[in-house]
Amino acid sequence: MRIGILDIQGSVEEHKKKLFQLGVKPIMVKSAEDFERLDGLIIPGGESTTIGLLLETGGLKKALVKAVRCGMAVWGTCAGAILLSKFGLIDIEIERNAYGRQIDSFETEIAFLGKTIPAVFIRAPKIRSAGKPVEILSEYGDSKTAVRQGKILATSFHPEMTDDRTVHRYFLKMC
Ligand code: GLN
Repeated sequence: MRIGILDIQGSVEEHKKKLFQLGVKPIMVKSAEDFERLDGLIIPGGESTTIGLLLETGGLKKALVKAVRCGMAVWGTCAGAILLSKFGLIDIEIERNAYGRQIDSFETEIAFLGKTIPAVFIRAPKIRSAGKPVEILSEYGDSKTAVRQGKILATSFHPEMTDDRTVHRYFLKMC
């Protein structure tokens, strides 16, 4: 299975480590050609404005959108989820920095498809609403925290920053 990690900015190393733990050697995606023949791609958390701007260079965004439309699975964590919504790839309304500033970041437990897992929220967005084709996989307080539309997964938290592998395993199955 060919799984890529968008290697521009953010929690790249953490995702890489998780995939290795699950027996997958990821492809580090830095250029438009790297999107070719991927079964799945992870867009890490970080700063969505920065990642978005860098994606505009070298035809990266175009290659990403094309690959998703051609059936590649994709998972956006936090900033990655914001970008999936911004690029019109998933039908959700998402509000940036909705829990407050960096100091308001926190760790808690949430139910992901009925299983309790640890969840780290870092200047996280809130998924306020989701369209009909979107499946809700987890919720916390007044917002959805994991959603799926076909082969597109978005989480507002960071599964790559805990010891739990549930969401990475789930994504690999999607691929
Ligand atoms: N606050 C960041 C943004 O809006 C996202 C933070 C994160 O990915 N942990 O882009």
